[in-house]
Amino acid sequence: MGMKIYQQFINGSLVNSHSSEWIEVENPYTGDIISRVPKGNAADAEEALDAAKKAQPAWAAQTAAYRASYLKQMAALIRENRVELAKILASEQAKILPLAQVEVDFTADYFDYYAGWARIYEGEIINSDRFNENIFLFRKPIGVVVGICPWNFPFFVMARKVAPALLTGCTIVLKPSSLTPNTTFEFAKLVATLNIPKGVVNFISGSGKTLGNTLVTSPLTDMVTLTGSVEAGQEIIRASAENVTKVSLELGGKAPAIVFDDADIDLAVKGVVDSRVIFSGQVCNCAERAYVHKNIYDKFVEKLAVAMKAVKYGDPFASDTVMSSQIDKAQQVKIDEMVVRAKAAGAQVLTGGKKADTRTGYFYEPTVLVNCTQDSEIVQKEVFGPVLPVLPFSDYEEGIALANDCEYGLTSSVFTTNINTVMRAIKDLNFGETYVNREHFEGMQGFHAGWRKSGIGGADGKHGLMEYLQTQVAYIQF
Ligand code: NAD
Repeated sequence: MGMKIYQQFINGSLVNSHSSEWIEVENPYTGDIISRVPKGNAADAEEALDAAKKAQPAWAAQTAAYRASYLKQMAALIRENRVELAKILASEQAKILPLAQVEVDFTADYFDYYAGWARIYEGEIINSDRFNENIFLFRKPIGVVVGICPWNFPFFVMARKVAPALLTGCTIVLKPSSLTPNTTFEFAKLVATLNIPKGVVNFISGSGKTLGNTLVTSPLTDMVTLTGSVEAGQEIIRASAENVTKVSLELGGKAPAIVFDDADIDLAVKGVVDSRVIFSGQVCNCAERAYVHKNIYDKFVEKLAVAMKAVKYGDPFASDTVMSSQIDKAQQVKIDEMVVRAKAAGAQVLTGGKKADTRTGYFYEPTVLVNCTQDSEIVQKEVFGPVLPVLPFSDYEEGIALANDCEYGLTSSVFTTNINTVMRAIKDLNFGETYVNREHFEGMQGFHAGWRKSGIGGADGKHGLMEYLQTQVAYIQF
């Protein structure tokens, strides 16, 4: 595969950037530069926003069923190209091929799923305090949406923003992460073959702090939806203050897995390991810390260490690998530094605990840490790598309190065979999602929304659609 050069997609056409700078995209496993995308500038951002603004009224005036027809075509195009897209995804981020294929197929389904909402979402009729009066609540599109994506699920998160925006009558300017723009621009090439009205959907690339900031601060922007780090979310909140722009933020996580003493231990070990090593630990909602009841703690950590040690890592295209390289050198170094600090603070390594000695790539060994304290960095801050600190707890109250004690509030999980413990834990856990007796992975019909620093608003399902709609209430006397 030769090096690809991508163009931006603005106002219905694949175009060159106003900037002459480029972003080089590295395959993290091989170290090869596999593509160049424009390092777009403010002029690109303004042109894309202008196009989205001009296109929005006519798009909103169409029926939702008409708009949905484009979502269905997008799903079909993805399916026609599913194998090629998965290979590109696996190459741009060292995601093992089966997982890349799951992401591509899930993305196609996601477009179809939101197309299905065309005839479902609705307004409301509200009882009035006056005689002979109807109160109608209409749901109308917010307008021009800016979507800013992370590198970990670049294809799916793109759809998570584009599909509900377009279905509701919004138009969108979408910016992929500079680390993983390839699948987004492959999709742009597919969209360019549709006769979708110009300006409805635009894809541009560039730095978050410059081009991203222009997108967020523009008076043309009605809503910003970011999936990314807490730091980027905080910057976007600050930048959105100027025009009081709506923000929807899906940020980091530090998900606890709580294993009670009546749990099926093998199931819990499998659920926690699967959650920790999927995409090399670089998933916002996946188990980042485990709390295990003291009665089963020794047995659990023993099995956990064996299972983590057995995780095979290597080439993302090999059929027997479970995980591959971290996204880049910086991420590998960040993980390693966190583990070094954890060890200095007294953590004991049961398996892993260092960079993997591989010929290529930026690997980190699947790692289990014990003897960590609750207030230590490794237990409180997102690692985003295959590193799991495990802590014991003495009773239900303590287990729940330790899990809740964190500035992140995205997801959580519970392993127990006692239905009362399940129901109590769901009541007592302060997280946007709780998984019971399974790994962490959300469904498109749910609602993925973080508490505390994990975000504002959310995505997926009925409630995710509502993010893109604003209300208008009419009082009608007759
Ligand atoms: P990041 O915050 O570094 O970057 C995310 C995007 O924001 C990139 O496109 C970047 O260019 C852009 N950006 C950065 N600063 C900006 C600014 N000031 N203005 C405008 N845009 C800006 O995050 P990342 O490293 O790509 O992704 C990893 C993070 O994303 C992790 O913290 C992870 O937990 C989180 N994440 C959360 C979810 C979720 O659903 N909650 C899903 C996936 C990833």
